[in-house]
Amino acid sequence: MTQDAIRIKDLRKTYAGGKQALKGVDLNVPAGSVFGLLGPNGAGKSTMINIMAGLVTKTSGQVDIWGWDQDKNPRQSRAAIGVMPQELNLDPFFTPRAALEVQAGLYGVPKAQRRSDEILEMVGLTDKAEAYARTLSGGMRRRLLLAKALVHHPQILVLDEPTAGVDIELRQMLWENVRKLNRDRGMTIILTTHYLEEAEEMCDEIAIINHGEKVTQQSTQSMLGQLDAKTMVILPETPPAALPQAEGIIVDTREDGALALTYRSSETSAEDVLSCVHAAGIRIRDVRTEQADLEDVFLSLTSSRAS
Ligand code: ADP
Ligand code: MG
Repeated sequence: MTQDAIRIKDLRKTYAGGKQALKGVDLNVPAGSVFGLLGPNGAGKSTMINIMAGLVTKTSGQVDIWGWDQDKNPRQSRAAIGVMPQELNLDPFFTPRAALEVQAGLYGVPKAQRRSDEILEMVGLTDKAEAYARTLSGGMRRRLLLAKALVHHPQILVLDEPTAGVDIELRQMLWENVRKLNRDRGMTIILTTHYLEEAEEMCDEIAIINHGEKVTQQSTQSMLGQLDAKTMVILPETPPAALPQAEGIIVDTREDGALALTYRSSETSAEDVLSCVHAAGIRIRDVRTEQADLEDVFLSLTSSRAS
């Protein structure tokens, strides 16, 4: 076995019409990890995942799935990966059990190795096994999509925005399943999301892509280290004679005259920030705080790269 479940080199995708969705991305996903692919809408996440799954043709680059070069060994590389897609594309006339059997057939899983009942049970669809897909709720359809991704026993499971627009109950069920597959079967999980907290909670490692380029890839822990930056924005009564100064606080003046004090909330308290403002003789007219969110992580990572 290889160390990496997925290895991608210089992946590019230009859609018909000229949209450059991926502009040369390198990515390695450690085997056995829960890996988060993060980025705002339009970043190129689905494109990337659909290329891994063999659903979208790349323009150029190299994609190895479980050690198999996608171009040289398309069958093996497809067999190693299961995808729960972003869209709810299900045949309305199939029952969940039939949908799984058809999917298993497509992947050439022999009858004796099929586990439709077990999989239906796992996603909580046992009592809907014979219902038509069109009668299933949105949440049930999503669970059926997860079930379909698992029929050929892939080593890698990919979930594209699995919890976008789903209720809390389904979300928890999905995460429970994902954790179990990862822990008990060592399945490598790749998920995309634009919810940072979800990635924090679930992922061992995170890559951020933006505008078709990888901005960073690191362990969730070190990513979080960058996330605890907070900014307190203070509007002074009068333009200050001197700027506040304190260790661990970076002071910036904004165009509207506000002072932006950025600090790590793990090291510096809001109290500390306020007292250093007072110590500079500044009277505060207004104050608000800005929490680092995904957008800020992008900004801070891209700007720190440029400098
Ligand atoms: P994400 O999943 O991160 O939201 P996508 O991979 O879906 O991003 O899309 C990346 C970019 O490629 C977007 O600008 C999107 O509009 C464009 N795109 C996606 N699919 C197609 C397609 N089939 N044809 C043309 N452009 C596409
Ligand atoms: Mg997408």
